[in-house]
Amino acid sequence: MNRSDRVPNWTVLPSLSLRGIGTPLVEHLQFYLDRLAWVTGFSRATMAHHLLGRRWADAAIEVDGGFTAKVGERVAKLEVLTGQTSLRYGTLWALSRVLSINSNLYGKRQRRWCPVCYDRWGDGDYEPLIWSIDLLTCCPIHDCRMEHACYRCGSFQRNSHDMDRRRVCSTCRRSLGHAANSFRPSPFLIWVDRQIEALVEYCATPRGEPLPWEAYTKFVQGVRLVAAGHGKQCGRLNGQIMRLEKHVRKRLLRPTLRSLINLCAVQGISLGDMLNAPWESSCPRLFDDWIGFRYWPLPSVMKAKHIYAATRVVQEFMEMGPLYIPPASLLIRSLGVPAAAVLDANPVSAELYQKKYFKQGNRHELKVLGIGYRTALTYLHRPNIEDQFVIDMICDATRLNRSFSMRVVDGARKAMSVLSAERLSCYFAGLGDRDAVEWVVDKWSQLAYIPKSAFTFEEET
Ligand SMILES: [Zn+2]
Ligand SMILES: [Zn+2]
Repeated sequence: MNRSDRVPNWTVLPSLSLRGIGTPLVEHLQFYLDRLAWVTGFSRATMAHHLLGRRWADAAIEVDGGFTAKVGERVAKLEVLTGQTSLRYGTLWALSRVLSINSNLYGKRQRRWCPVCYDRWGDGDYEPLIWSIDLLTCCPIHDCRMEHACYRCGSFQRNSHDMDRRRVCSTCRRSLGHAANSFRPSPFLIWVDRQIEALVEYCATPRGEPLPWEAYTKFVQGVRLVAAGHGKQCGRLNGQIMRLEKHVRKRLLRPTLRSLINLCAVQGISLGDMLNAPWESSCPRLFDDWIGFRYWPLPSVMKAKHIYAATRVVQEFMEMGPLYIPPASLLIRSLGVPAAAVLDANPVSAELYQKKYFKQGNRHELKVLGIGYRTALTYLHRPNIEDQFVIDMICDATRLNRSFSMRVVDGARKAMSVLSAERLSCYFAGLGDRDAVEWVVDKWSQLAYIPKSAFTFEEET
Protein backbone atom coordinates (compact mmCIF):
# COMPACT_ATOMS: atom_id res chain seq x y z
CA MET A 1 0.00 0.00 0.00
CA ASN A 2 1.58 3.29 -0.95
CA ARG A 3 1.35 6.39 1.20
CA SER A 4 -1.39 8.18 -0.70
CA ASP A 5 -3.72 5.22 -0.26
CA ARG A 6 -3.52 5.66 3.47
CA VAL A 7 -4.58 9.30 3.44
CA PRO A 8 -8.08 9.21 4.96
CA ASN A 9 -10.91 10.62 2.86
CA TRP A 10 -11.86 13.04 5.60
CA THR A 11 -13.42 16.49 5.54
CA VAL A 12 -14.00 18.99 8.33
CA LEU A 13 -17.69 19.25 7.56
CA PRO A 14 -19.96 16.41 6.38
CA SER A 15 -19.47 15.94 2.68
CA LEU A 16 -23.07 16.63 1.65
CA SER A 17 -23.60 17.17 -2.03
CA LEU A 18 -25.59 20.05 -3.46
CA ARG A 19 -28.85 18.87 -4.96
CA GLY A 20 -30.21 19.55 -8.44
CA ILE A 21 -26.86 20.41 -10.07
CA GLY A 22 -27.26 21.13 -13.79
CA THR A 23 -31.01 21.83 -13.51
CA PRO A 24 -33.10 24.99 -13.10
CA LEU A 25 -34.06 23.65 -9.66
CA VAL A 26 -30.55 23.56 -8.19
CA GLU A 27 -30.47 23.88 -4.40
CA HIS A 28 -29.89 27.37 -3.04
CA LEU A 29 -26.52 27.44 -1.28
CA GLN A 30 -28.10 29.28 1.65
CA PHE A 31 -30.49 26.39 2.14
CA TYR A 32 -27.59 23.95 1.81
CA LEU A 33 -25.91 25.73 4.72
CA ASP A 34 -29.05 25.31 6.84
CA ARG A 35 -29.09 21.63 5.93
CA LEU A 36 -25.43 21.32 6.88
CA ALA A 37 -26.12 22.96 10.23
CA TRP A 38 -29.03 20.61 10.79
CA VAL A 39 -26.94 17.49 9.94
CA THR A 40 -24.08 18.52 12.24
CA GLY A 41 -26.43 19.63 15.01
CA PHE A 42 -24.64 22.99 15.26
CA SER A 43 -26.46 26.25 14.96
CA ARG A 44 -25.39 28.28 11.94
CA ALA A 45 -23.74 30.78 14.24
CA THR A 46 -21.73 28.11 16.10
CA MET A 47 -20.66 26.47 12.87
CA ALA A 48 -19.54 29.77 11.45
CA HIS A 49 -17.81 30.82 14.66
CA HIS A 50 -15.75 27.64 15.10
CA LEU A 51 -15.00 26.76 11.54
CA LEU A 52 -15.04 29.85 9.44
CA GLY A 53 -14.13 32.73 11.70
CA ARG A 54 -16.29 35.04 13.70
CA ARG A 55 -17.32 37.36 10.91
CA TRP A 56 -19.19 34.77 8.99
CA ALA A 57 -21.66 34.41 11.80
CA ASP A 58 -23.47 37.60 10.92
CA ALA A 59 -23.04 37.50 7.17
CA ALA A 60 -24.76 34.66 5.40
CA ILE A 61 -23.91 33.79 1.82
CA GLU A 62 -26.25 36.31 0.28
CA VAL A 63 -26.64 35.38 -3.31
CA ASP A 64 -29.93 37.21 -3.73
CA GLY A 65 -28.12 40.48 -4.14
CA GLY A 66 -25.54 39.15 -6.60
CA PHE A 67 -22.23 37.42 -6.15
CA THR A 68 -19.48 39.58 -4.68
CA ALA A 69 -15.78 38.73 -4.23
CA LYS A 70 -16.44 38.24 -0.52
CA VAL A 71 -19.15 35.70 -1.23
CA GLY A 72 -16.70 33.98 -3.61
CA GLU A 73 -14.12 33.59 -0.83
CA ARG A 74 -16.68 32.10 1.53
CA VAL A 75 -17.94 29.64 -1.06
CA ALA A 76 -14.38 28.53 -1.87
CA LYS A 77 -13.70 28.00 1.86
CA LEU A 78 -16.87 26.01 2.27
CA GLU A 79 -15.92 23.82 -0.72
CA VAL A 80 -12.61 22.97 0.99
CA LEU A 81 -14.29 22.23 4.31
CA THR A 82 -16.88 19.90 2.76
CA GLY A 83 -14.68 18.41 0.04
CA GLN A 84 -17.38 19.38 -2.44
CA THR A 85 -16.20 21.21 -5.53
CA SER A 86 -19.59 22.11 -6.90
CA LEU A 87 -21.17 24.25 -4.18
CA ARG A 88 -20.66 27.40 -6.27
CA TYR A 89 -23.31 26.13 -8.70
CA GLY A 90 -25.93 26.82 -6.03
CA THR A 91 -25.19 30.55 -6.43
CA LEU A 92 -24.94 33.08 -9.27
CA TRP A 93 -21.16 32.49 -9.46
CA ALA A 94 -21.30 31.76 -13.21
CA LEU A 95 -22.46 35.36 -13.79
CA SER A 96 -20.30 36.96 -11.11
CA ARG A 97 -18.20 38.88 -13.66
CA VAL A 98 -21.23 40.32 -15.41
CA LEU A 99 -24.27 40.71 -13.20
CA SER A 100 -24.81 43.73 -10.96
CA ILE A 101 -24.93 43.07 -7.25
CA ASN A 102 -28.26 44.88 -7.24
CA SER A 103 -30.04 42.21 -9.17
CA ASN A 104 -33.13 41.94 -7.05
CA LEU A 105 -36.01 43.60 -8.83
CA TYR A 106 -37.73 44.80 -5.70
CA GLY A 107 -34.58 45.53 -3.76
CA LYS A 108 -35.90 43.92 -0.60
CA ARG A 109 -34.39 40.94 1.12
CA GLN A 110 -37.71 39.31 1.67
CA ARG A 111 -38.04 35.58 1.49
CA ARG A 112 -40.22 34.14 -1.22
CA TRP A 113 -41.64 30.64 -1.47
CA CYS A 114 -44.09 28.46 -3.32
CA PRO A 115 -47.07 27.69 -1.01
CA VAL A 116 -47.71 24.34 -2.72
CA CYS A 117 -44.06 23.24 -2.40
CA TYR A 118 -44.27 24.08 1.34
CA ASP A 119 -47.63 22.34 1.65
CA ARG A 120 -46.34 19.08 0.15
CA TRP A 121 -42.91 19.27 1.80
CA GLY A 122 -41.18 15.90 2.25
CA ASP A 123 -37.87 14.69 3.68
CA GLY A 124 -35.82 15.08 0.51
CA ASP A 125 -37.14 18.53 -0.33
CA TYR A 126 -35.04 21.67 -0.49
CA GLU A 127 -35.40 25.33 -1.44
CA PRO A 128 -34.07 26.04 -4.91
CA LEU A 129 -31.87 28.98 -5.93
CA ILE A 130 -34.58 30.13 -8.34
CA TRP A 131 -36.84 31.17 -5.42
CA SER A 132 -34.36 33.87 -4.51
CA ILE A 133 -34.85 35.60 -7.87
CA ASP A 134 -37.78 37.86 -7.29
CA LEU A 135 -38.51 38.43 -10.98
CA LEU A 136 -39.92 34.91 -10.97
CA THR A 137 -43.72 35.09 -10.94
CA CYS A 138 -44.71 31.41 -10.70
CA CYS A 139 -43.31 28.24 -9.16
CA PRO A 140 -41.66 26.26 -11.99
CA ILE A 141 -43.18 23.03 -10.64
CA HIS A 142 -46.70 24.04 -9.66
CA ASP A 143 -47.35 27.09 -11.86
CA CYS A 144 -48.86 28.88 -8.87
CA ARG A 145 -47.90 32.38 -7.81
CA MET A 146 -44.78 32.67 -5.63
CA GLU A 147 -45.60 34.25 -2.25
CA HIS A 148 -43.62 36.68 -0.13
CA ALA A 149 -46.02 37.25 2.78
CA CYS A 150 -48.12 34.97 4.98
CA TYR A 151 -51.38 34.43 3.09
CA ARG A 152 -53.32 34.50 6.36
CA CYS A 153 -51.93 37.49 8.26
CA GLY A 154 -49.91 39.20 5.52
CA SER A 155 -46.61 39.41 7.46
CA PHE A 156 -43.27 39.29 5.67
CA GLN A 157 -41.02 36.49 6.84
CA ARG A 158 -37.60 36.69 8.39
CA ASN A 159 -34.84 34.48 7.10
CA SER A 160 -35.17 31.72 9.70
CA HIS A 161 -32.42 29.10 9.55
CA ASP A 162 -34.51 26.48 11.31
CA MET A 163 -35.58 23.97 8.66
CA ASP A 164 -39.06 23.43 10.14
CA ARG A 165 -39.74 26.98 11.30
CA ARG A 166 -39.11 28.30 7.79
CA ARG A 167 -42.44 26.88 6.73
CA VAL A 168 -44.39 28.47 9.59
CA CYS A 169 -45.40 32.15 9.79
CA SER A 170 -43.25 33.96 12.34
CA THR A 171 -46.21 36.15 13.36
CA CYS A 172 -49.36 34.01 13.41
CA ARG A 173 -47.57 30.64 13.70
CA ARG A 174 -49.67 29.03 11.04
CA SER A 175 -48.28 27.11 8.08
CA LEU A 176 -47.07 29.10 5.06
CA GLY A 177 -47.93 26.12 2.89
CA HIS A 178 -51.40 25.83 1.39
CA ALA A 179 -53.13 24.61 -1.73
CA ALA A 180 -53.07 27.20 -4.53
CA ASN A 181 -54.50 27.32 -8.01
CA SER A 182 -52.23 27.65 -10.98
CA PHE A 183 -51.88 31.23 -12.15
CA ARG A 184 -51.31 32.47 -15.68
CA PRO A 185 -49.72 35.90 -15.90
CA SER A 186 -49.42 37.75 -19.22
CA PRO A 187 -47.49 35.80 -21.90
CA PHE A 188 -44.55 38.16 -21.52
CA LEU A 189 -44.20 37.37 -17.80
CA ILE A 190 -44.45 33.64 -18.55
CA TRP A 191 -41.62 34.18 -21.03
CA VAL A 192 -39.64 36.04 -18.32
CA ASP A 193 -40.08 33.03 -15.99
CA ARG A 194 -38.68 30.74 -18.68
CA GLN A 195 -35.64 33.03 -19.08
CA ILE A 196 -34.99 32.91 -15.34
CA GLU A 197 -35.11 29.11 -15.47
CA ALA A 198 -32.54 29.19 -18.29
CA LEU A 199 -30.35 31.56 -16.29
CA VAL A 200 -30.41 29.37 -13.18
CA GLU A 201 -29.74 26.26 -15.26
CA TYR A 202 -26.72 28.05 -16.74
CA CYS A 203 -25.47 28.90 -13.22
CA ALA A 204 -26.17 25.32 -12.02
CA THR A 205 -24.17 23.73 -14.82
CA PRO A 206 -20.55 22.96 -13.90
CA ARG A 207 -18.04 25.12 -15.79
CA GLY A 208 -14.44 26.18 -15.32
CA GLU A 209 -14.81 29.95 -15.47
CA PRO A 210 -17.63 32.45 -15.00
CA LEU A 211 -19.03 34.18 -18.10
CA PRO A 212 -16.44 36.83 -19.09
CA TRP A 213 -17.42 40.52 -19.10
CA GLU A 214 -16.32 40.79 -22.75
CA ALA A 215 -19.09 38.40 -23.80
CA TYR A 216 -21.65 40.84 -22.42
CA THR A 217 -19.93 43.86 -24.02
CA LYS A 218 -20.03 42.19 -27.42
CA PHE A 219 -23.66 41.25 -26.98
CA VAL A 220 -24.70 44.83 -26.13
CA GLN A 221 -22.72 46.20 -29.10
CA GLY A 222 -24.52 43.78 -31.40
CA VAL A 223 -27.93 44.73 -30.01
CA ARG A 224 -27.13 48.41 -30.55
CA LEU A 225 -26.28 47.80 -34.21
CA VAL A 226 -29.51 45.86 -34.75
CA ALA A 227 -31.56 48.56 -32.99
CA ALA A 228 -29.83 51.32 -34.96
CA GLY A 229 -30.92 49.52 -38.12
CA HIS A 230 -34.53 50.09 -37.06
CA GLY A 231 -33.97 53.81 -36.60
CA LYS A 232 -37.06 55.86 -35.89
CA GLN A 233 -39.23 52.82 -35.33
CA CYS A 234 -37.85 52.63 -31.81
CA GLY A 235 -36.50 56.12 -31.15
CA ARG A 236 -36.72 56.24 -27.37
CA LEU A 237 -35.59 52.65 -26.92
CA ASN A 238 -32.72 53.23 -29.32
CA GLY A 239 -31.53 56.10 -27.14
CA GLN A 240 -31.65 53.85 -24.07
CA ILE A 241 -29.63 51.15 -25.82
CA MET A 242 -27.05 53.68 -27.00
CA ARG A 243 -26.63 55.06 -23.47
CA LEU A 244 -26.34 51.53 -22.12
CA GLU A 245 -23.70 50.59 -24.68
CA LYS A 246 -21.65 53.66 -23.76
CA HIS A 247 -21.76 52.72 -20.07
CA VAL A 248 -20.91 49.10 -20.83
CA ARG A 249 -17.97 50.10 -23.02
CA LYS A 250 -16.57 52.16 -20.17
CA ARG A 251 -17.37 49.40 -17.68
CA LEU A 252 -19.46 51.88 -15.69
CA LEU A 253 -22.55 49.79 -15.38
CA ARG A 254 -23.11 46.13 -14.67
CA PRO A 255 -26.49 44.89 -15.87
CA THR A 256 -29.18 43.81 -13.47
CA LEU A 257 -31.08 40.67 -14.29
CA ARG A 258 -33.92 42.90 -15.46
CA SER A 259 -31.65 44.65 -18.00
CA LEU A 260 -30.40 41.29 -19.33
CA ILE A 261 -33.96 40.10 -19.82
CA ASN A 262 -34.97 43.38 -21.45
CA LEU A 263 -32.05 43.18 -23.89
CA CYS A 264 -32.96 39.61 -24.84
CA ALA A 265 -36.62 40.55 -25.33
CA VAL A 266 -35.68 43.50 -27.53
CA GLN A 267 -33.32 41.30 -29.54
CA GLY A 268 -35.99 38.61 -29.81
CA ILE A 269 -33.80 35.83 -28.39
CA SER A 270 -33.84 33.74 -25.24
CA LEU A 271 -31.53 34.37 -22.29
CA GLY A 272 -30.15 30.86 -22.87
CA ASP A 273 -29.04 31.90 -26.39
CA MET A 274 -27.45 35.03 -24.98
CA LEU A 275 -25.51 33.20 -22.29
CA ASN A 276 -24.34 30.34 -24.47
CA ALA A 277 -23.54 32.27 -27.64
CA PRO A 278 -23.45 35.99 -26.76
CA TRP A 279 -21.85 37.19 -29.97
CA GLU A 280 -23.81 35.07 -32.43
CA SER A 281 -27.10 35.94 -30.73
CA SER A 282 -26.44 39.67 -30.95
CA CYS A 283 -26.07 39.67 -34.76
CA PRO A 284 -28.92 40.73 -37.04
CA ARG A 285 -31.29 37.81 -37.39
CA LEU A 286 -31.67 35.86 -40.60
CA PHE A 287 -35.36 36.75 -40.59
CA ASP A 288 -36.00 40.23 -39.31
CA ASP A 289 -38.34 39.64 -36.42
CA TRP A 290 -37.89 42.95 -34.60
CA ILE A 291 -40.82 43.01 -32.24
CA GLY A 292 -41.17 46.76 -32.21
CA PHE A 293 -40.82 47.61 -28.54
CA ARG A 294 -40.88 51.30 -27.80
CA TYR A 295 -39.53 51.00 -24.25
CA TRP A 296 -37.73 48.40 -22.16
CA PRO A 297 -40.52 45.80 -21.97
CA LEU A 298 -39.92 45.02 -18.27
CA PRO A 299 -40.07 48.31 -16.34
CA SER A 300 -38.49 48.89 -12.95
CA VAL A 301 -40.83 49.05 -9.95
CA MET A 302 -40.44 52.82 -9.65
CA LYS A 303 -41.13 53.37 -13.33
CA ALA A 304 -44.12 51.02 -13.24
CA LYS A 305 -45.56 52.86 -10.26
CA HIS A 306 -45.10 56.23 -11.94
CA ILE A 307 -46.74 54.98 -15.12
CA TYR A 308 -49.67 53.67 -13.10
CA ALA A 309 -49.99 56.96 -11.19
CA ALA A 310 -49.78 58.97 -14.43
CA THR A 311 -52.53 56.84 -15.97
CA ARG A 312 -54.75 57.58 -12.98
CA VAL A 313 -53.95 61.30 -13.30
CA VAL A 314 -55.01 61.33 -16.96
CA GLN A 315 -58.18 59.38 -16.20
CA GLU A 316 -59.29 61.47 -13.22
CA PHE A 317 -58.45 64.71 -14.96
CA MET A 318 -60.78 63.74 -17.81
CA GLU A 319 -63.53 62.80 -15.37
CA MET A 320 -63.43 66.30 -13.88
CA GLY A 321 -64.54 67.71 -17.25
CA PRO A 322 -61.91 70.45 -17.57
CA LEU A 323 -62.71 73.30 -19.98
CA TYR A 324 -59.18 73.07 -21.41
CA ILE A 325 -57.02 69.97 -21.94
CA PRO A 326 -53.24 70.45 -22.09
CA PRO A 327 -50.97 68.12 -24.13
CA ALA A 328 -50.66 64.83 -22.21
CA SER A 329 -46.88 65.25 -21.93
CA LEU A 330 -47.41 68.60 -20.18
CA LEU A 331 -50.09 67.25 -17.85
CA ILE A 332 -47.91 64.43 -16.48
CA ARG A 333 -44.54 66.13 -16.84
CA SER A 334 -43.87 66.20 -13.11
CA LEU A 335 -44.11 62.39 -12.96
CA GLY A 336 -41.08 61.97 -15.23
CA VAL A 337 -42.44 59.24 -17.47
CA PRO A 338 -42.82 59.45 -21.24
CA ALA A 339 -46.38 60.37 -22.23
CA ALA A 340 -46.34 57.70 -24.97
CA ALA A 341 -45.61 54.99 -22.39
CA VAL A 342 -48.48 56.20 -20.23
CA LEU A 343 -50.94 56.53 -23.08
CA ASP A 344 -49.93 53.08 -24.35
CA ALA A 345 -50.86 51.67 -20.95
CA ASN A 346 -54.43 52.83 -21.45
CA PRO A 347 -55.09 53.12 -25.20
CA VAL A 348 -58.86 53.69 -24.90
CA SER A 349 -58.70 56.75 -22.67
CA ALA A 350 -55.57 57.87 -24.52
CA GLU A 351 -57.47 58.00 -27.79
CA LEU A 352 -60.29 59.96 -26.16
CA TYR A 353 -57.80 62.34 -24.60
CA GLN A 354 -55.99 63.01 -27.88
CA LYS A 355 -59.28 63.51 -29.74
CA LYS A 356 -60.47 66.11 -27.23
CA TYR A 357 -57.10 67.81 -27.23
CA PHE A 358 -56.97 68.23 -31.00
CA LYS A 359 -60.57 69.47 -31.11
CA GLN A 360 -59.53 72.60 -29.23
CA GLY A 361 -57.96 74.33 -32.20
CA ASN A 362 -55.52 74.22 -35.09
CA ARG A 363 -51.80 73.74 -34.57
CA HIS A 364 -51.11 77.40 -33.96
CA GLU A 365 -54.06 77.82 -31.58
CA LEU A 366 -53.03 74.72 -29.64
CA LYS A 367 -49.55 76.12 -29.26
CA VAL A 368 -50.85 79.44 -27.90
CA LEU A 369 -53.21 77.61 -25.51
CA GLY A 370 -50.25 75.56 -24.32
CA ILE A 371 -48.29 78.74 -23.52
CA GLY A 372 -51.37 80.02 -21.67
CA TYR A 373 -51.50 76.79 -19.64
CA ARG A 374 -47.85 77.08 -18.61
CA THR A 375 -48.42 80.70 -17.62
CA ALA A 376 -51.46 79.67 -15.55
CA LEU A 377 -49.44 77.00 -13.72
CA THR A 378 -46.66 79.47 -12.94
CA TYR A 379 -49.07 81.87 -11.21
CA LEU A 380 -51.46 79.34 -9.67
CA HIS A 381 -48.63 77.80 -7.68
CA ARG A 382 -48.30 81.07 -5.75
CA PRO A 383 -50.34 81.35 -2.55
CA ASN A 384 -53.60 83.35 -2.41
CA ILE A 385 -53.71 84.09 -6.11
CA GLU A 386 -57.00 85.22 -7.67
CA ASP A 387 -58.19 83.61 -10.91
CA GLN A 388 -58.91 87.07 -12.33
CA PHE A 389 -55.25 88.07 -11.94
CA VAL A 390 -54.09 84.86 -13.66
CA ILE A 391 -56.54 85.39 -16.51
CA ASP A 392 -55.13 88.91 -17.01
CA MET A 393 -51.61 87.50 -17.07
CA ILE A 394 -52.56 84.91 -19.70
CA CYS A 395 -54.25 87.55 -21.84
CA ASP A 396 -51.07 89.65 -21.66
CA ALA A 397 -48.72 86.77 -22.42
CA THR A 398 -50.65 85.13 -25.24
CA ARG A 399 -53.23 87.63 -26.53
CA LEU A 400 -55.88 84.97 -25.97
CA ASN A 401 -59.31 86.48 -25.26
CA ARG A 402 -60.73 86.33 -21.73
CA SER A 403 -63.09 83.44 -22.39
CA PHE A 404 -60.24 81.22 -23.66
CA SER A 405 -58.01 82.34 -20.82
CA MET A 406 -60.73 81.38 -18.32
CA ARG A 407 -60.91 77.93 -19.86
CA VAL A 408 -57.16 77.52 -19.59
CA VAL A 409 -57.25 78.50 -15.90
CA ASP A 410 -60.02 75.97 -15.28
CA GLY A 411 -57.88 73.23 -16.91
CA ALA A 412 -54.81 74.24 -14.91
CA ARG A 413 -56.71 74.30 -11.58
CA LYS A 414 -58.14 70.84 -12.21
CA ALA A 415 -54.73 69.48 -13.30
CA MET A 416 -53.20 70.81 -10.09
CA SER A 417 -55.85 69.12 -8.01
CA VAL A 418 -55.34 65.68 -9.61
CA LEU A 419 -51.59 66.12 -9.22
CA SER A 420 -51.76 67.18 -5.57
CA ALA A 421 -49.39 65.39 -3.21
CA GLU A 422 -52.27 63.68 -1.37
CA ARG A 423 -53.80 62.33 -4.55
CA LEU A 424 -50.45 61.14 -5.89
CA SER A 425 -49.58 59.32 -2.68
CA CYS A 426 -52.98 57.63 -2.93
CA TYR A 427 -52.22 56.42 -6.46
CA PHE A 428 -48.76 55.19 -5.45
CA ALA A 429 -50.15 53.36 -2.45
CA GLY A 430 -52.97 51.88 -4.52
CA LEU A 431 -50.80 49.23 -6.13
CA GLY A 432 -48.11 46.97 -4.63
CA ASP A 433 -44.63 46.78 -6.16
CA ARG A 434 -45.13 43.49 -7.95
CA ASP A 435 -48.67 44.37 -8.98
CA ALA A 436 -47.45 47.62 -10.56
CA VAL A 437 -44.94 45.80 -12.77
CA GLU A 438 -47.50 43.14 -13.70
CA TRP A 439 -50.06 45.84 -14.44
CA VAL A 440 -47.78 47.74 -16.83
CA VAL A 441 -46.44 44.62 -18.56
CA ASP A 442 -49.97 43.36 -18.99
CA LYS A 443 -51.16 46.66 -20.50
CA TRP A 444 -48.17 46.96 -22.84
CA SER A 445 -48.51 43.34 -23.91
CA GLN A 446 -51.96 44.15 -25.28
CA LEU A 447 -50.56 46.68 -27.74
CA ALA A 448 -51.18 45.96 -31.37
CA TYR A 449 -47.57 46.26 -32.48
CA ILE A 450 -46.46 43.23 -30.47
CA PRO A 451 -47.38 40.17 -32.51
CA LYS A 452 -49.39 37.73 -30.43
CA SER A 453 -46.96 34.94 -31.25
CA ALA A 454 -43.94 36.90 -30.03
CA PHE A 455 -43.85 35.47 -26.55
CA THR A 456 -45.19 32.02 -27.02
CA PHE A 457 -42.64 29.42 -26.18
CA GLU A 458 -42.19 25.83 -27.16
CA GLU A 459 -43.69 23.40 -24.70
CA GLU A 460 -41.30 20.65 -23.78
CA THR A 461 -42.21 17.33 -25.28
ZN1 LIG B 1 -44.12 24.76 -6.05
ZN1 LIG C 1 -49.12 34.69 9.40
